Amino acid sequence: GRKFFVGGNWKCNGTGEEVKKIVTTLNEAEVPSEDVVEVVVSPPFVFLPLVKSLLRSDFHVAAQNCWVRKGGAFTGEISAEMLVNLSIPWVIHGHSERRALLSESSEFVGDKVAYALSQGIKVIACVGETLEQRESGSTVAVVAAQTKAIADKVSNWDNIVLAYEPVWAIGTGKVASPAQAQEVHCELRKWLHKNAGAEVAASTRIIYGGSVNGANCKELAAQPDVDGFLVGGASLKPEFIDIIKSAT
Ligand code: 13P
Repeated sequence: GRKFFVGGNWKCNGTGEEVKKIVTTLNEAEVPSEDVVEVVVSPPFVFLPLVKSLLRSDFHVAAQNCWVRKGGAFTGEISAEMLVNLSIPWVIHGHSERRALLSESSEFVGDKVAYALSQGIKVIACVGETLEQRESGSTVAVVAAQTKAIADKVSNWDNIVLAYEPVWAIGTGKVASPAQAQEVHCELRKWLHKNAGAEVAASTRIIYGGSVNGANCKELAAQPDVDGFLVGGASLKPEFIDIIKSAT
């Protein structure tokens, strides 16, 4: 079976004091064991060492981005080698905020995923359609193309978690219905089956992100192809614990 995965994407939020408070809340929480649910939180770069040093050992940390190739003269960037040096095991790539606001193309995302993996960093790779794309009936084509751009650069999917995050659901309070999420997750798994093989399709976690909260997570988690969540706003709040508990 696929182990349930819950990621908390803190985005560009928090002061040192707030970050410490969130970590304390997480550290005190009673949640299912690491054999049942994999929990990864993703603070802004500057707080990675702090969070890593304070966070309970059964939870892990992710960076929110890293550079596409080996580090060097790339002002403002953070390299995969630096994450390795800090023992940061995960990175998020392909988030819609970076695709939209920083013009990251699917091809660039594919290169970033491949480079991080080559350095031994596991990747939460995000895909998702805009409202306009959904309304024009191109949801499956869009997420398939975004997934293909990753598959073009990667052959081993062992260290990838695929996050389906419909853009219209991110930060809007408009969560996908369980049926909407299940439909796209099922299509993504079919795509993986056809293009990366039966084993990759069966073992790759496909998680949902977009306005997940403590109240709507249970029903989403019950869908057969929803293997966890990538949580934004609610990952900064105590209800993140409830979302972790939806694993069981
Ligand atoms: P929200 O949970 O705030 O909608 O954000 C989802 C997201 O973008 C996680 O990466």
